[in-house]
Amino acid sequence: MKPAPFEYWAPTSLDEALKLLSGFDDPGDAKVLAGGQSLMALLNLRLAQPAYIVDLNGIAELSSISRDNGTLTIGAMTRQRIAERSADVAAACPLMVQALQQVGHPQIRNRGTVGGSLAHADPAAELPTLAVCLGADLVMRGPSGERTVNARDFFTGFLSTVLAEDEILTAVRIPAAGPGTGSAFEEVARRHGDFAMVGVAAHVQLNGDTIAAASIALSGVDGQPVHAADAGAALAGQTPSDDVFAAAGAAASAGLDPTSDLHASGAYRKHVAGVLVRRALKVATARAKENQ
Ligand SMILES: Cc1cc2nc3c(=O)[nH]c(=O)nc-3n(C[C@H](O)[C@H](O)[C@H](O)COP(=O)(O)OP(=O)(O)OC[C@H]3O[C@@H](n4cnc5c(N)ncnc54)[C@H](O)[C@@H]3O)c2cc1C
Repeated sequence: MKPAPFEYWAPTSLDEALKLLSGFDDPGDAKVLAGGQSLMALLNLRLAQPAYIVDLNGIAELSSISRDNGTLTIGAMTRQRIAERSADVAAACPLMVQALQQVGHPQIRNRGTVGGSLAHADPAAELPTLAVCLGADLVMRGPSGERTVNARDFFTGFLSTVLAEDEILTAVRIPAAGPGTGSAFEEVARRHGDFAMVGVAAHVQLNGDTIAAASIALSGVDGQPVHAADAGAALAGQTPSDDVFAAAGAAASAGLDPTSDLHASGAYRKHVAGVLVRRALKVATARAKENQ
């Protein structure tokens, strides 16, 4: 299949792109194009038939990686492969490197962007789950200016976010990993590079031999990434052990009610979620110990 006809626009600045989006009679008739790794398939299958495409690839100001005051900022148009190989990302957010290594294949990551993955909001995708786990802030610009929304409030359902039709996601701000922290991204997929059936991101902060704080997020178990807030909070003050991790896994999966599809039954996903939470916490804690 080939896409339905559309008008193609290639702005070279964010202001120009925003002006274009708000100038169309109905901004809902337009789609912004980032790496095209999800959008092109939707266009080719005619599942999306926008009248206008606004290509963000000529906007250099949206591709950047910087570290400042304990925050890692990644521009929305930064290619996933660039982030995966960045020394700044490796130092400030090792979880992102681990997550990106499980996104499709290098060819996909060469084109796919960090912002595209977040804006697309596939519930099985790694980066939205990471953003929820770490409580990242998503920065967006629209006709009335800039606003920032925490990832835990950004995703609203299957392929849905709080982004308005005339807004562009410009960056993600992630709290940088400090001493005594460790993280892990564990997932089960049929083949390496496939979307995961279930994925788990875990982040642990140790204080000596005690867990000071922990955060857990899951993919593939609901229409949007799930923040297992209670299971994470219950780990604070605990001494790490297999039993503690297993209890957290059971707590995180207890509230889940995943649907069945041709890849896996809901019951299987629920079981695997608990197992992966246990594994991810164990690995994250070991990394936190090394990092003290
Ligand atoms: C074979 C294959 C395997 C894949 N496997 C995985 C996988 O295992 N895990 C995974 O997470 N992903 C996977 N992907 C998807 C990949 O990560 C995509 O790159 C990503 O989902 C979308 O990013 P993109 O930059 O290509 O965005 P596009 O496809 O260009 O856009 C996707 C959507 O987001 C919107 N959008 C993009 N950027 C912005 C922005 N800055 N502001 C507002 N809206 C925006 C677009 O309008 C569109 O609706 C796979 C893709 C393929 C083709």
